[in-house]
Amino acid sequence: MRVNELEFQNKYLDLDDEFYDLTKATPLDEPYLISFNPKVAKLIDLDKTSGNDALFVELLNGTFVPKTAKTYAMCYAGHQFGNYAVRLGDGRAINFGSIKGWNLQTKGSGETFYSRSADGRSALPSSIREYLMSEAMHHLGVPTTRALGIIGSKTKLLRNGIEYGAIVMRMSPSWVRFGTFQYFAYFKKHEELKALADYVIAESYPHLKELEDKYFKLYSEVVNATAKLIASWQGLGFCHGVMNTDNMSIAGLTIDYGPFSMLDDFDFGFVCNSTDKAGRYSYAEQPNISYWNLTKLAVAFVPLVEKKRMERKLEEYGESIYPNAYLKVMRKKLGLELELDTDANLIEELICTLQDAQIDHTNFFRTLSHYDGEMMPLFELAMNPVVIESWLKLYDKRLLKESLTHVERQEQMLKTNPKYVLKNYMLQEAIDLAKRGDFSRVETLLYVAEHPFDELPEYEYLAVETPEGFKNVTLSCSS
Ligand code: AMP
Ligand code: MG
Repeated sequence: MRVNELEFQNKYLDLDDEFYDLTKATPLDEPYLISFNPKVAKLIDLDKTSGNDALFVELLNGTFVPKTAKTYAMCYAGHQFGNYAVRLGDGRAINFGSIKGWNLQTKGSGETFYSRSADGRSALPSSIREYLMSEAMHHLGVPTTRALGIIGSKTKLLRNGIEYGAIVMRMSPSWVRFGTFQYFAYFKKHEELKALADYVIAESYPHLKELEDKYFKLYSEVVNATAKLIASWQGLGFCHGVMNTDNMSIAGLTIDYGPFSMLDDFDFGFVCNSTDKAGRYSYAEQPNISYWNLTKLAVAFVPLVEKKRMERKLEEYGESIYPNAYLKVMRKKLGLELELDTDANLIEELICTLQDAQIDHTNFFRTLSHYDGEMMPLFELAMNPVVIESWLKLYDKRLLKESLTHVERQEQMLKTNPKYVLKNYMLQEAIDLAKRGDFSRVETLLYVAEHPFDELPEYEYLAVETPEGFKNVTLSCSS
């Protein structure tokens, strides 16, 4: 299918008109293509050469709107850093409708009804970051929104200095957030709340549609999906940075990439968002915050589901659902097939060890994936190898209980622990080059992001320890 043949469905617009505001994009000046992702295009049957079609840039810029697309911004609320905002909504995103179950949306398309005092724009740096990182997360096996393409422009924005406006076209199976439920619950619009729950069931949990008790089951599925999502973040060392309830996906996806970061040297308390002075969204806090966010979702669900039942589900989240999801992720990272009670302790010891060793998170697990009893390669990564040695002795003992050979275990671990992740300094280099009109590094990082578990000799330089001075750097929301 070519760009001019795209056909959209608009089921979201069947909801009451309080759910959205029909709106049009405000085009950027002198738009140009930065990158197009043919792998994502395939998901909606869009021609893989569409990046060469001038209409693609027009589609992203909003100067070409396919006949079947009805552009709108979505309404939602949310707790931002613990404080409730009565109405947020898509302040800079414009939705086109869906194709093959993917809802297409441009981010940075200008003011909407929900922009409040902001400009409705996204700057080039944060747009490149989202474009690349969402793809990296997908290929790392993490549920996430995707990115079809990105354009830059000559439209100037006032940020920390002058930046240029850019637009990413994002695709997601769902753009509904915890905050969408909060919006209708807050205003006691119970009919709309029910309609929203039915919409979410149809879109993201269709197997629940005919079941009795479907709203409790919906809540439970969101709880389970959130546990899996956050456990996968913790396993990879991904810090989201802004886990406000408006940035929590009802479908359990990673959404709204802002000042995110992969851990460089392991630091349990790392806060990647420089505006988060209290460390609310530190790496260590992500599981607790997910629980807090789920309690807020439960409050919004009260008109639909008996409160006590959700309270019990939340208790389970803390006691078993999240811990088990995390154990599952970590056992896989360590190549452990048996489930032993002592594993939680081994993993806790590992976290303390990584902290004390001052060691690169990604490189540690990748190097451990080659482990055959020879400790030296791991010692070489650490500032403090002594603690690594003590933990490896525990690990050696634990491995004796397994039936896999070293080779079998290594094979599995190499498919679990990535060699390549996109660290912030790499993204920054791609951004600096892109600002000078060179998009080659964007393409390189996209390629590497698509092959996180492979050996790519040409890109070995992207698998080394983060250079000093660029480790665990913080970023602000305001890009
Ligand atoms: P975020 O935490 O970046 O996902 O954004 C929080 C809220 O602020 C959402 O409602 C966004 O749509 C809105 N927002 C962020 N940046 C802008 C901007 N430049 N213009 C308009 N709205 C924005
Ligand atoms: Mg957001």
